[in-house]
Amino acid sequence: MNILERYHAMEYGPAPEARNEADAWLAGRDFSKALFIGGDWKAAGGGKTFDTSEPSSGKLLAKVSDANAADIDAAVAAAAKALPKWSASSGYQRAKVLYAIGRAMQRHQRLFAVLETIDNGKPIRESRDIDVPLAIRHFIHHAGWAQALDRDFPGQKGVGVVGQIIPWNFPLLMLAWKIAPALAAGCTVVLKPAEFTPLTSILFAEICERAGVPKGVVNIVQGGPEAGAAIVNHPGIQKIAFTGSSEVGKIIRKATAGSGKKLSLELGGKSAFIVFEDADLDSAVEGLVDGIWFNQGQVCCAGSRLLVQEGIADALIAKVKTRMSRLRVGSPLDKNTDIGPLVDLTQLDRVKGLIAEGARQGAVCWQPDATLPSSGYYHLPTLATGVSPANILAQEEVFGPVLATMTFRNTEEAIELANNTRYGLAASVWSENVNLTLHVAPQLKAGVVWVNGTNMFDAACGFGGYRESGFGREGGREGMFEYLSAKLPLGPVIKPATSSAQPVEQADGVAIDRTAKLFIGGKQVRPDGNYSLAVATAKGKLAGEVGLGSRKDIRDAVSAARACKSWPEATAYNRSQVLYYLAENLSGRAEEFAARLTELTGANAKAARDEVELSIERLFLYAGLADKFEGRVHQPPARAVTLALHEPVGVVGIVAPDDQPLLGFISLVAPALAMGNTVVAVPSERYPLLATDLYQVIEYSDVPAGAVNIVTGRTAELAVVLAKHDDVDGLWLFTDADTCAKAEAESIGNLKRVWSGNGRSLDWASEDAAGDVFLRRAIEVKNVWVPYGD
Ligand code: NAD
Repeated sequence: MNILERYHAMEYGPAPEARNEADAWLAGRDFSKALFIGGDWKAAGGGKTFDTSEPSSGKLLAKVSDANAADIDAAVAAAAKALPKWSASSGYQRAKVLYAIGRAMQRHQRLFAVLETIDNGKPIRESRDIDVPLAIRHFIHHAGWAQALDRDFPGQKGVGVVGQIIPWNFPLLMLAWKIAPALAAGCTVVLKPAEFTPLTSILFAEICERAGVPKGVVNIVQGGPEAGAAIVNHPGIQKIAFTGSSEVGKIIRKATAGSGKKLSLELGGKSAFIVFEDADLDSAVEGLVDGIWFNQGQVCCAGSRLLVQEGIADALIAKVKTRMSRLRVGSPLDKNTDIGPLVDLTQLDRVKGLIAEGARQGAVCWQPDATLPSSGYYHLPTLATGVSPANILAQEEVFGPVLATMTFRNTEEAIELANNTRYGLAASVWSENVNLTLHVAPQLKAGVVWVNGTNMFDAACGFGGYRESGFGREGGREGMFEYLSAKLPLGPVIKPATSSAQPVEQADGVAIDRTAKLFIGGKQVRPDGNYSLAVATAKGKLAGEVGLGSRKDIRDAVSAARACKSWPEATAYNRSQVLYYLAENLSGRAEEFAARLTELTGANAKAARDEVELSIERLFLYAGLADKFEGRVHQPPARAVTLALHEPVGVVGIVAPDDQPLLGFISLVAPALAMGNTVVAVPSERYPLLATDLYQVIEYSDVPAGAVNIVTGRTAELAVVLAKHDDVDGLWLFTDADTCAKAEAESIGNLKRVWSGNGRSLDWASEDAAGDVFLRRAIEVKNVWVPYGD
């Protein structure tokens, strides 16, 4: 036997990680008092418990307290009690606590890793080398943010008591992603882990006791959906941070509608793993192993759709199959194991069911020849080929070790296939041509893009999705915003629109048509229903009429906004010039607009002139900021740079306020435009003529057709139509509370980003009603990881 033959004949011996310490910890705890509330260990009201078991054997690990609504009340009360002191403590004090948590976790690193593996089933290599070190890094990184708060987020304050709900796939890491930024921002928390994996959160609560976290700052409750719902609906909570399925994310969006709670949702994904023909195939195969078989594929950003360029498909698939045959499926506590069990029998059954359905729909499913352990919830790695884009395996999040493969011919097709999903969490792009990868990355609808890599995470880099993968970012500077609120210059409570005017049928062939039309796709068009609304002057006389927009008009306006490619693709300098030009042209008609304001609102001449002047100034401001509100470069502790790019949200619906009708309208539309969004705006119902006058200026200001669309009519009706429209990506609502709540509840179809004043208007003349707070709403941050070195 020569050396090579010997090498190939070598077998792995068993390399089990010791579990004595974890078993001793399990044996020494009273899990019937597992609720950590106000610094004390409590039993659940009524003494209810739920079982947590070991996925590799199915054996019971513990019976854990199952919190009921009264327990959630107690936890929220404890968090509220601790809030004033904690939020008033200095950044330095909070930094010391965060650092102490990180250091205490380091001292118990191995115990955390073994417990996580026992409870979740993930291979010890992953919990030991990835989950636990990264969780610790989050606490230590965020110690710095606690101290840098005043410097980096001037004028912003912690939102208050935060409810946090997390899934079972990365129990400790998700806890760290949630708790670290909240504490840094001065918030107190009530966190609920998933019912399959409560153990490391209980150990973490012990760490909080030892690290000197003040009582009530961190409260950890255990339980399932009911406990989760009690958190979501609790009136004493100011923000909900949720990680989990898109299905539950939508339930939470609906439940919090109109409550004024801040909300971030980190949901599911169906991420594309794109391999171009000039990629280093061996590296791509290793990336793929990490992309889809890491944590048995139970990863929100798993690269579960392999898109491979036609010419190399056979070669790549052959390599993937060879590699799959060498993946070691077995005990998660063995250091050589690549694939452990799935978390639970229900999850195993779900994965099997989806594979069977995928095969029924035409996919060819291949698995390596291997024997599974006799007990536990194991599943072999699975490769599905011949997958059509509509196949369930290409569309549904399997959350298991299943890779669906499709081929593409050219770059455009790769991008189209990658974006053919309702999700938008992550993507990997593989090519030795960095020009190509950086050409593709901005065109992918995903919050994170890894170039020649996958599953790279760091506490300094934002993580989060587009579309139905949710909204908000976790990590770094971007993540801090989720726990802070800016001081906004609140204006009056907005009353529901009182326009009593009845629709008037439009007269055909009248010599002088005084009805201002809608503005859609750069053209003045009649409303589809052919009705108009009378607009009164301040003195109650007829000032004119505007079109009564309907669902069909909104649909046309959204199509026009979507079709306008030239605006989002224009350079920031170009957008800036157009906004300056618009300001210049408005300035040329300032007197006319001031007179119109006086006529409609009754404002005196000076107030009207001031409003017009401020509107021009605001256009100038956003023209100037269009090429200055830029992304950043993060430098994670890896051989990579992370480009945090600012991208437009997409098509943004804007429901503008009645007060200061010109300034309010411009204060919302201008920042959206500056960042490259296209807009469908519903102007003030009472004073729509300002907006219809404005589109005459827009028409000759080089704004491309479709970049701004204006649909006049009944605010309450049109806001809800915009909210329901699945091709609207963002919705800004500055109208009455009831309409805001209804629109928020109706926005769940595509989980559009809704920004609502909750029935309050702003003092639009205030300097605080302009600037970064608005620009931040107008962008998505995409983190593109670019590795370097040979
Ligand atoms: P899940 O949505 O079923 O449960 C998540 C959490 O929500 C659990 O704690 C659960 O008890 C709780 N919950 C369930 N119903 C609830 C309700 N009606 N109200 C309030 N809380 C409720 O998800 P899961 O099966 O635990 O986790 C898997 C999902 O999580 C996958 O879709 C995955 O993609 C997603 N995930 C996303 C990210 C991310 O950062 N985007 C990270 C990890 C996991």
